[in-house]
Amino acid sequence: MPELRKDPIVGRWVIISTDRSKRPTDFVRESVKLKGGFCPFCPGHENKTPPEVLAYRPNGAGRDSQGWTVRVVPNKFPALGIEGSLNRSAEGMFDNMNGVGAHEVIIETPDHEATLSTLSEKRIEDVLWAYRDRIIDLKKDKRFKYIMIFKNHGTAAGATLEHAHGQLIALPIVPKHVLEELDGAKQYYGFKERCVFCDIIRQETEAKVRVVSENEGFLTVAPYAPRFPFETWILPKKHESAFENSSSQVYESLARAMKNLLQRTDQVLDNPAYNMVLHSSPVQEGPMDHYHWHLEFMPRLTKIAGFEWGSGFYQNPTPPEEAAKYMREAKIKTAPPAAVAG
Ligand SMILES: [Zn+2]
Ligand SMILES: [Zn+2]
Ligand SMILES: [Zn+2]
Repeated sequence: MPELRKDPIVGRWVIISTDRSKRPTDFVRESVKLKGGFCPFCPGHENKTPPEVLAYRPNGAGRDSQGWTVRVVPNKFPALGIEGSLNRSAEGMFDNMNGVGAHEVIIETPDHEATLSTLSEKRIEDVLWAYRDRIIDLKKDKRFKYIMIFKNHGTAAGATLEHAHGQLIALPIVPKHVLEELDGAKQYYGFKERCVFCDIIRQETEAKVRVVSENEGFLTVAPYAPRFPFETWILPKKHESAFENSSSQVYESLARAMKNLLQRTDQVLDNPAYNMVLHSSPVQEGPMDHYHWHLEFMPRLTKIAGFEWGSGFYQNPTPPEEAAKYMREAKIKTAPPAAVAG
């Protein structure tokens, strides 16, 4: 019999198929493949993007020149515009405000053929520093209440350019999904006086069945009530509500956790399209005991259909215990463990 499971943070129910559960090979997958063509993100085309807002350029060359390892530029077709004031107003009962925000692209590598999973851990760490540096800079602008960082890999996941990149959108409001997590986590804290994410880490580490991998700083786990098959979360073991307030060891071990997960995913699911989102606390608020930043990773193997749209219930054909087992058993080449534990 299928099982209904409730997510302990947001209270969302999902239907998990148990008898006819789907294995990795049961999904009709389209591996992400390069198509080629002109690429505005490749070195030498720096003038094809808006002027950069940040770049790491070990050769010390000037702005918008070659030699960078990570480069951040405003999106040429931004979802929101950086200029102007919010001007909240209403049309009768309907609320609106100006579309003020920032929309940036984080170009993760100069190499057109590389992906986040083929980059070295050091290079992934640079990408994480770029996230951090952009958040710290943008949150000085008090109009921005939330900074969402995400990644679409492959056309099936919504990527329009194939060169490896992530995106950042600074918003004048805290988005609904994040509010649901904040509210749920606050309620849990009010009741138990413990962070729900810290409790998840504790219980999953003990139970082991949904653990994909672990290093000294992070636990990679299939959540108890995942919306999507092979949905995976990367959770920092040390409680911290804001991603940008982490120590340098945290970014170093997160880079390793990310590479580890991406390599497993590429092996088990044959380089699938995926979305990744960073959930961190609202940027104008101080540290929170009840909220815990994390990464959510969702390979795109199924489509959202009428039932999901209409109900907010998700139907997941692969139990997370099985997904975690496939992922755990993937044979990947891992770098030797770091000498010092964070
Ligand atoms: Zn390119
Ligand atoms: Zn916590
Ligand atoms: Zn989340």
